[in-house]
Amino acid sequence: MKFKYVIYFLLFCGCSVSKNDSGEQPVAFQLTTENLTQYTIADGSSSLKVFVTLKDTNNEPFEDDRIQIIKDGEVVGNASSPYEFITTEPGLHVFQAKLNSYFSETLEINARSDKNYEVVEFPLIFHIPKEDIDETTGRKIEEWVALTNERFNRTELRGFTKRTNSVPPRIVFRLSTVGRNGQILEIPGVNPYPRQHEFDFGFQDWMWHVYAHPDYVINIWLASFSTSFAGFASYPILKENAVLEGLNSNSLESPSSLQGIVLKRGFLLNSGYLNNNTLEHELGHFFGLRHIFPCDDDDFAEDTFQYSDNPGILCNNTFLLSFNAMSYEFNSTFFTYSQRERMRYVIDNAKWIGQKRMVTIPSANGVNPPSIPKVTKPKKPVETDITY
Ligand SMILES: [Zn+2]
Repeated sequence: MKFKYVIYFLLFCGCSVSKNDSGEQPVAFQLTTENLTQYTIADGSSSLKVFVTLKDTNNEPFEDDRIQIIKDGEVVGNASSPYEFITTEPGLHVFQAKLNSYFSETLEINARSDKNYEVVEFPLIFHIPKEDIDETTGRKIEEWVALTNERFNRTELRGFTKRTNSVPPRIVFRLSTVGRNGQILEIPGVNPYPRQHEFDFGFQDWMWHVYAHPDYVINIWLASFSTSFAGFASYPILKENAVLEGLNSNSLESPSSLQGIVLKRGFLLNSGYLNNNTLEHELGHFFGLRHIFPCDDDDFAEDTFQYSDNPGILCNNTFLLSFNAMSYEFNSTFFTYSQRERMRYVIDNAKWIGQKRMVTIPSANGVNPPSIPKVTKPKKPVETDITY
């Protein structure tokens, strides 16, 4: 995750050509939606604004409230104001704009059923250099996890309305009270390590010496490394017969690679965790999400837009902020429905993601998650496939 500070504004374009009722003056009109998305959730409350854009022959905006908005064959509004589409009916809904006998191209909106996933909670262990730990560390780590839980599941940003098609993955985190050998941790979620190791970018061999068994906990190393990237993560490895585009599977039972997240020490030392979404972004990767850029890549989430290398700039050169956690826009934290589906599939079908001590909330009350067995470093560890 690279630090970037970018603000862009929305831009729309109208393209389908028709004629007005006199049959002489050609105008262009078409339907478009708020944030250009063609996805909504059929939950009876998600709102997607559908509106008509009009351009005259000189490509200037043009008003004509005789233009009607048609949904599934019925008139539902006109060009003078956006139509607020809210539905409980899953499936494709077909919109068209009409001026007398002229029709715009159709606009299909996919309304998907709401899904009520259980809230699942994963234990975290932060491996922190001993010298960085003081009496404030416990409080800071708690604060960081609380912020992460809020950011990871939010669907609105302060000052903005709820983003249509953004959903909470219902994944939260807690600090592990036990350490890598099953011992009670002095500070919950904190495993101190001596900072005598070599610090390069990428997962390092020394990390095996502090690694907590990845079937039982999510490992987060705070370390020093010198690049402009603030952190990086492993992609999940699926169980043998599981299939999800963009991820690998294998048949191994004991961990063959380092799985987890590495972040710069500065997040804790300089309180950078308070206003930065890097941990959320890396957790998105950890649960199987790929970036929504660049143009020649696929993130395998059908409802995200594909972006250029420049945050906020779509591959067709349109400006449109995604607010998506898997962009490099500054502090964006939303997940789309399809991204959530990927993460929830990974939770059910991956190994080495802390799943054995995952609990469901609130039914977890009173349940003691299993302790953490030792992890053995394999003779020939597999290099971790990382992303940042
Ligand atoms: Zn990334």
